[in-house]
Amino acid sequence: MTAETTAPLAGSGAGFLALNAGSSSLKFALFPAEGDVALATGQVDRIGPDGAMKIKDAAGEPIAPAEGGFTDHAAALATVIATVKRAFPALNFAAIGHRVVHGGIFYSAPVVVDEAVLETLATLSPFAPLHQPHNIAGIRAATEAFPGVPQVACFDTAFHRGQPFVNDTFALPHRYYEIGVRRYGFHGLSYDYVTGELGRIAPHLMSGRVVVAHLGNGASMCAIHRGRSVASSMGYSALDGLPMGTRCGQLNPGVMLYMLDQEGLNTAQIRQILYNESGLLGLSNGLSNDMRTLEAADNAEAHRAIDYFVFRVQRELGAMAAVMGGIDALVFCGGIGENSRVVRRRVCERLGWMGIEIDHGRNAESATVISSEFSRTTVMIVPTREDLVIARAARAAAGLSETAAT
Ligand code: AMP
Repeated sequence: MTAETTAPLAGSGAGFLALNAGSSSLKFALFPAEGDVALATGQVDRIGPDGAMKIKDAAGEPIAPAEGGFTDHAAALATVIATVKRAFPALNFAAIGHRVVHGGIFYSAPVVVDEAVLETLATLSPFAPLHQPHNIAGIRAATEAFPGVPQVACFDTAFHRGQPFVNDTFALPHRYYEIGVRRYGFHGLSYDYVTGELGRIAPHLMSGRVVVAHLGNGASMCAIHRGRSVASSMGYSALDGLPMGTRCGQLNPGVMLYMLDQEGLNTAQIRQILYNESGLLGLSNGLSNDMRTLEAADNAEAHRAIDYFVFRVQRELGAMAAVMGGIDALVFCGGIGENSRVVRRRVCERLGWMGIEIDHGRNAESATVISSEFSRTTVMIVPTREDLVIARAARAAAGLSETAAT
């Protein structure tokens, strides 16, 4: 089957596209007017000459053949949009939602984008140079492809906007705070979703003190008190806090001075090390950035990486419990949090003092509640859905439901 022969699929009425334009990838999900099940999901990986697009329907069956070789994000997005339109010809695209990494101090909720919003978002590019320009390009390309259709920006920073000053600032000269060098926190769409789910399935916990550990290729943790973010491990950039697949996590700034002064590295070289060569990959001496591979490897390099990852999660958990004066629930999400029984077990080991005791059977099954009946603190797994948060905001912008997009 070629792109031209993509079979039209069922699906009519209003459709909502959730787009996530990253530094080298483009993820998308197409939702109907109601419900949590996407009509189609897909992604373009490695945007560039080797880039490849995959798209599948709700049953996981490929809708169109994998296409490849995209010169840039705009070309990738154009192919995605053309494929989706061809596959769902009866669908009326009512709003497009976009994941945008940075809303700065300006946005604490999704916003319908106009030229003034785009200009504001562009001023935030220096704070997220690897992501924000691609997010903005995605919005511009979608605006061109769907003239007159509301474009809704959904921010990774928004969920954290109300954090207290002490978690929002660095101890730098105050002018840095004034110009926006702050601890914004990210993964907000994930925390938003998990908070909503907790409110639905365990409202008594949501009114208490919760730590959510979003452990994936990107990883962070958030302390949530009565539904509001009060602390997050990711600060100014997506480099802070926990070690990630290839990102370093918390780092003493003196290390960067060493790289600059003693090794004579330039900023591009340092950026490459901190973003692409560190984290699990660096710790395992280049073995892998992937937790599954490390768990299977079972050698000294892999153990070193997993040990450090677990240690930093435990450390952050202790700090967050201290910030909130205790903890009522610990929630795991993200690819590692949802799937790695080893990491969950090891994180929860020796946390009896915090009222945490997991049930090994439930943990092995990846049940929703994995704490034992004797555990004072509830430990849960809530699979996260950032795409759904974006789709809901797009629906709201089209006047259909749930959250407000202003
Ligand atoms: P994400 O970025 O949320 O998609 O998460 C990706 C991470 O989840 C990678 O490190 C994967 O190795 C990890 N992961 C996914 N499935 C498993 C699994 N069954 N066991 C351990 N790690 C997993």
